[in-house]
Amino acid sequence: MPKNFIITIDGFSSCGKSTLAKQLARQLGFVYIDSGAMYRAITLYFLRNHIDWSNKASVIVALKDIQLHFQYNDKLEQSEMFLNGENVEYVIRDLVVAEKVSEVAAIPEVRSFAVHQQQLMGRKANTIMDGRDIGTTVFPNADLKIFMTADISVRVERRFKEMFEKNPNVTIEEVKANLEMRDYIDSNREVSPLRRAEDAILLDNTHITTDEQLDFALNLYKDKVIELEMASGR
Ligand code: C5P
Repeated sequence: MPKNFIITIDGFSSCGKSTLAKQLARQLGFVYIDSGAMYRAITLYFLRNHIDWSNKASVIVALKDIQLHFQYNDKLEQSEMFLNGENVEYVIRDLVVAEKVSEVAAIPEVRSFAVHQQQLMGRKANTIMDGRDIGTTVFPNADLKIFMTADISVRVERRFKEMFEKNPNVTIEEVKANLEMRDYIDSNREVSPLRRAEDAILLDNTHITTDEQLDFALNLYKDKVIELEMASGR
């Protein structure tokens, strides 16, 4: 049986990674995995259970009580994150979680916990996974790697609109500070910092539409399939 086709999408916060990943998954019939949702769910568990995540032993014990899985919602046509059987897809998008998630995601034990599960998920089906370290650490041998970026002002505006719909009390300054803080921590942590993999294709979507970026990615996919078929002599 041929191995699964893996597409990785990494990049800074609020570059539109999940928008592109969902569109691609729909078009190609791939499974989409939002790795950030897993770090958010772990953070939610730590916050709710008052876990002292500066203490390695407490983190190791807490992780043993965490079960994560994704479940496809037919109505919404998207996968949702479940934490110990509870659908947390909505609550993990809250600013309270966003404020702490990068700190939690920098903990080596948390990363190995999540990365291991992500690698298992990628074995089950053709997969598109987005995050920060997917092309570098989770699937270094992925078939197609995309690294997304966009100007900070565009990213802040996009995320603000999204968050304002859920919580009209949120301010643009809070959103900007959160994005900058997460990008800083994500890029400077010791384990698997956010980096563009050498073989990742850069996609700056500051000035392009979502349809244009989808076309761009679909063309990359088609080229890659042809390349793989030629390499295998078909
Ligand atoms: O993608 P999203 O913004 O939901 O991710 C939330 C946070 O989870 C990121 O800011 C980052 O700290 C962490 N993350 C990570 N590695 C990934 C995905 C997300 O460290 N692969």
